[in-house]
Amino acid sequence: MPGGTRDGSDVAEPTALDDPQLVAQWARVRGRLQTEVGDVEYRTWLRQMSFGGVDGDEVTVRLPTRFLRDWVRSHYGDRLNALWNAENRDIRRVDIRVGGTAEQGLAESVVLPSEPPPPPASGTVPAVAVAVAPATARGEDRVGDGAALDPRFTFDSFVVGKPNEFAYACARRVAEQPACIGFNPLFLYGGVGLGKTHLMHAIAWELTSGHAARNGRPASVAYMSAERFMYRFIAAIRSQATMEFKEQLRSLDVLMVDDLQFLIGKDATQEEFFHTFNALVDAGKQIVVSADKSPSDLSGLEERVRTRLGCGMVADLHATTYELRISILEAKAARAGVPVPAKVLEFLAHKITTNVRELEAALNRLIAHANLFNRPVTFETAQEVLHDVLKAHDRRVTIEEIQKRVSEHWNIRLTDMSSARRARAVARPRQVAMYLAKQLTSRSLPEIGRKFGNRDHTTVMHAVSRVAELMARDAGFAEDVELLRRMLEN
Ligand code: ADP
Ligand code: MG
Repeated sequence: MPGGTRDGSDVAEPTALDDPQLVAQWARVRGRLQTEVGDVEYRTWLRQMSFGGVDGDEVTVRLPTRFLRDWVRSHYGDRLNALWNAENRDIRRVDIRVGGTAEQGLAESVVLPSEPPPPPASGTVPAVAVAVAPATARGEDRVGDGAALDPRFTFDSFVVGKPNEFAYACARRVAEQPACIGFNPLFLYGGVGLGKTHLMHAIAWELTSGHAARNGRPASVAYMSAERFMYRFIAAIRSQATMEFKEQLRSLDVLMVDDLQFLIGKDATQEEFFHTFNALVDAGKQIVVSADKSPSDLSGLEERVRTRLGCGMVADLHATTYELRISILEAKAARAGVPVPAKVLEFLAHKITTNVRELEAALNRLIAHANLFNRPVTFETAQEVLHDVLKAHDRRVTIEEIQKRVSEHWNIRLTDMSSARRARAVARPRQVAMYLAKQLTSRSLPEIGRKFGNRDHTTVMHAVSRVAELMARDAGFAEDVELLRRMLEN
């Protein structure tokens, strides 16, 4: 803690506090950071930052408490460094300290206001649907200001096919009749980019417009990511406003929390979520949550939370099929109004198979390219424009790479991947490497066995199921394996 004193305030005054150029640069740094992190997060953690001056190549930023200083240092320190350096090449370091706010008035008055998000395209959202409307005015502190809804994510734009028809039907049902028996909570789960967030936004849009038309008033709906739920909760604790936070949440008609897996390991937030959840369900209000796994597979989430989450309707979004990918691409191309030959759509649907977001991004790139050069989309331009994307998807991981990464990770010798040693310290990593080889390559079990010191295919089979079992039981271990997988896939 450089310059820290016993009472937590930091000493040694830097200079150049009144240099108008620096003050303007500071205002831009704040503005950029605010745009990057969003209004709510900015208000919670960063608003109280003040400019402490410059000393040589070092800028000082002050915060009023040690808690805030530590938080900002660890969460935003690198961004502040980078943003300052981008503004002013001479600045190489940002020192974040506890300290007075003598010039705070000045710094606050020049801070760039962030742009409020654009209003939804449809224009059908009643003004009273405050809970989902993005917050624009400072000081406004509603529960739902966590996230604005994406105007593109509606039921109309969601393409339905075998893998998602059940989830879609459930979402529709909840949007038409929130809190109806059997559908509360609605738990949507599935892999990345398969449409969970899209469906949740669609429910929220429907509830704030459709519901209003039917019942004379819009439902009060809050949609937020689990991460934002946690930030809001911590911020409420910090400003001693937990009662208010609880009351706001409990006055909702519908609460939606996206990516609930984020709460794993965040015990206090989980507890708060659980109480809110119970209070709302008991009061006949609707809960919608999403996660990357089913309630029973969300190991690391408290048992009672999992149990309650599984009590309503659990709907999973399966991996897309080729047919669904084609339909999605057709719908998106039609919406963009750009003709894309069937051959190109088929090519994309074959090549990009895991994630609709990536599929969409590839198509958007083709369309942008065509518009820019005023040329039609063809099979040849598609191959050219998407060269890098397609290469990434073609990439094959080798068993040798897997063995190398895994032994580095657990700090064992590479030769132990094929040695006969059975000590747990080497046997477990070896099993993980076999598991990853099965998951990430198209090699058969006997082929994998041969690469691990000529082991039998049943040994590989055992390793694969053992690792899967351990992952389900031990969240820390599962995280290690996932991390390795991600590193290998990149
Ligand atoms: P998740 O939350 O499951 O990770 P998203 O809901 O963010 O995924 O979806 C990723 C992208 O793919 C979004 O742009 C979404 O509109 C699009 N998408 C996913 N599934 C569909 C679908 N069935 N129809 C249309 N668009 C979809
Ligand atoms: Mg999502």
